[in-house]
Amino acid sequence: MKLRLVILLSYLSLATMAFAQTSGGQIRRHRKKQSSTVRYRSVTQSNVPPKMLSCPNDNHPHMIDLGLPSGTKWACCNLGASTPEQRGDYYRWGETKPVKEGDTDATYPYKNVDIGNNIAGTKYDAATANWGAFWRMPTEDQIMELVDNCTYKWTMQNGQEGVEVTGRNGGTIFLPASGYRNYSSGSFSNIGSSGYYWSSSPCGTDQGGILYFHSSSWYWNYYTRAFGFPVRPVAK
Ligand SMILES: [Zn+2]
Repeated sequence: MKLRLVILLSYLSLATMAFAQTSGGQIRRHRKKQSSTVRYRSVTQSNVPPKMLSCPNDNHPHMIDLGLPSGTKWACCNLGASTPEQRGDYYRWGETKPVKEGDTDATYPYKNVDIGNNIAGTKYDAATANWGAFWRMPTEDQIMELVDNCTYKWTMQNGQEGVEVTGRNGGTIFLPASGYRNYSSGSFSNIGSSGYYWSSSPCGTDQGGILYFHSSSWYWNYYTRAFGFPVRPVAK
């Protein structure tokens, strides 16, 4: 009988130890769960790119602060360009895909079609369609603000003629003299001598507003919508 009692007690003792180990494991798992919650909070990040006075590296596009009164920030390069001096893609006003071989005035869908008084951020905005909702085509007001508050200097950057635009805060962007793509022949003209950059603002139903520049001046202008011009986006 005594031997059986000792065996029984030993068995109970082992069972108690096993239970204690299981309980300990449950407590450790609980602590692990708490620490992973803290880790999740610490890696939450914003998708807004940092603003700067000039490109800090080759990872374009950057959002450049020119010290403008409205707070508008301009991109450092054109849509479709991988560097500030590249001309990038050419668009017809209101289209979100670049012009291609064979595109003529006859294939342009928005000739004398009202698609709104400001296409910025709409489905007709090439900047938003290609770079995401954070970017937009500039409005007439934003182009006028750039001209009124920045200095303009004709220059050459990495072999491309264009304009160095400098804000009162020292921020600077380069706009290549990209020329244009003719809507009837499809040929390119004035590359290296003039710049034509679409705005989001139309003029009637046949023209779109642009920032125009050449070697000695820059100003607001209007052109037929079926021309192929580049786009320099602004941040929303
Ligand atoms: Zn850049």
